[in-house]
Amino acid sequence: MANYLFDRLLSPAVPPDRPFIQPGPGPGLDYGALRRATGRLAHVLAGLGVLPGDRVAVQVDKSVDALVLYLACVRAGAVFLPLNTGYTPAEVDYFVGDARPRLLVTGSGGAAAARDIAARHGARVETLDPAGTGSLQVAAEAAPDDFATVPRGAEDLAAILYTSGTTGRSKGAMLSHANLASNAETLVDYWRFTAGDVLIHALPIFHTHGLFVATNVILLAGASMIFLARFDAGEVLSLMPRATCLMGVPTFYTRLVDHPGLDRAAVSGMRLFISGSAPLLAETHRDFAARTGHAILERYGMTETNMNTSNPYDRERVPGTVGFPLPGVALRIADPESGAAMAPGAIGMIEVKGPNVFKGYWQMPEKTAAEFRPDGFFITGDLGRVDERGYVHIVGRGKDLVISGGFNVYPKEVEGEIDALPGVIESAVIGLPHADFGEGVTAVVVRRKGADVTEAAVLDALAERLAKFKQPKAVIFVDDLPRNTMGKVQKNILRETYKGLYAG
Ligand code: ATP
Ligand code: MG
Repeated sequence: MANYLFDRLLSPAVPPDRPFIQPGPGPGLDYGALRRATGRLAHVLAGLGVLPGDRVAVQVDKSVDALVLYLACVRAGAVFLPLNTGYTPAEVDYFVGDARPRLLVTGSGGAAAARDIAARHGARVETLDPAGTGSLQVAAEAAPDDFATVPRGAEDLAAILYTSGTTGRSKGAMLSHANLASNAETLVDYWRFTAGDVLIHALPIFHTHGLFVATNVILLAGASMIFLARFDAGEVLSLMPRATCLMGVPTFYTRLVDHPGLDRAAVSGMRLFISGSAPLLAETHRDFAARTGHAILERYGMTETNMNTSNPYDRERVPGTVGFPLPGVALRIADPESGAAMAPGAIGMIEVKGPNVFKGYWQMPEKTAAEFRPDGFFITGDLGRVDERGYVHIVGRGKDLVISGGFNVYPKEVEGEIDALPGVIESAVIGLPHADFGEGVTAVVVRRKGADVTEAAVLDALAERLAKFKQPKAVIFVDDLPRNTMGKVQKNILRETYKGLYAG
């Protein structure tokens, strides 16, 4: 038996001298060297007693070595378990206790705390940095290049990836070899990736977007990437002449639009700009197109399902939509309670089924059972609708829906109106307990510095634009919205902070 995912990601058909990582800012790495590096590291993992099916938890800064470790884990038959670098030791302790990895890999900076955590949960600790004792890199230097790849089937687990924790505690999504391979294969095709592509990779690699979407697509296409530790608009602009594609979150694009260097000449060699992980404002889409002539391609995915939908490659990319279900993905809009089909065009729960959909939440059989319909559709938790042309619109998360006086208020609609007001940077609309209405629509607003935006001005403007039941009962001004490390607004924190607003 072969190793389902590894054999696809590192196909022997790709010439070994083809670049995988382009030189600059760090050194380059070709496919042959990548394969040998995974072999050496897989040897080290096996030598440390990592057996097929064992979890390897990894909390390290973004680096090419960390990518190699991901592939070495797959090659050794282990289950790769990346942890957000923003997690505190207390959070890591929770995840390690939950996932029970054989091995916890950290940077040398976090090694002392990691040792305590690992000791509590019976794991072994290694560092990834080249310096110091217990370093996987140092051990790998002495290991042989080739490794008898551990056989793994399509349904075996390749990774456990914790969700971003936007709506509550993160859950470990179990992803199989086939889940990851099938989605990457679909995306290579849909987005027309070829060996000549050069991706600017500026996303974190502990999240599905930067780890699986970006990396797996590049590997499958035998293409290459420019690998950046973090996103910086000026740096990314300066690298575009050497690249063909950028995958980003919406903030990348708002920062690029804010940069004076963004124009047609700067992007002349680029063929594709992709956005996902959070809603891209239609305004950003428009501004970017006006400056560059490129329509950003927005797509929709989640940790549990990889990618579900994408705007088309060669037809209209409609701002404010996430495009069509990807080939092989069945998507339907259902009544959130009963699961019954909704009338065409109506808003309901987005449900998906396909080879992309995960195997369940790690050690949460009840939660897993509750999130699947009897016919196998996964309940995404996102509300949306499909328009006459088949484009999917995400209306917001089910948990963020506000029910005021018995009417459904979709926060995104109200936020869109508020964000369009002069002097407003952004807003979050939430429901807070309210004696008369059940939930009171409440706007949390960030103003531009020095802008004279008052509660009365916001309410007056909205009174002309929105039905009465959608209008906020109160406006709260804040300096910043709370965001998690993926940049997503954490409405549960806002709801908790202001829950007493309408009390008494
Ligand atoms: P948690 O499940 O722990 O609360 P999370 O849902 O934010 O966190 P992820 O799996 O990283 O964790 O994010 C997936 C979610 O991100 C989707 O369910 C959807 O709500 C949102 N999302 C992703 N892409 C888009 C997009 N293009 N437009 C709007 N929302 C998006
Ligand atoms: Mg989620």
